[in-house]
Amino acid sequence: MLSLTQFHLLGCLRQHALSNTAYVFQSPLSFHVLEATKKREDFFAQFRDVIDTAVKLKKVMKKKGLSRARCICPRCGKHIHASISSYNGHMHMACEGQCGMAMME
Ligand SMILES: [Zn+2]
Repeated sequence: MLSLTQFHLLGCLRQHALSNTAYVFQSPLSFHVLEATKKREDFFAQFRDVIDTAVKLKKVMKKKGLSRARCICPRCGKHIHASISSYNGHMHMACEGQCGMAMME
């Protein structure tokens, strides 16, 4: 079992892209900050995708006076089923595909 420090050192010894034998040392801080930044950017890109789709769909549904609707999913091309609650006006939507496009207001 590796200690946390050993684990960090192993994770931070990265093979240099230009050479098969040269290794460069990245400080644990910079490596983990870059990794965390990438994960956060990926998360927010997906989050923005869902919100943009939901806002567009809800706008069309409100304009047409619909409480239930479906549209083509911009991620996977399958159908997104959406409904707006008559109780509080909140929207719920989910894609029937496996892309993870889903939201509940
Ligand atoms: Zn989808």
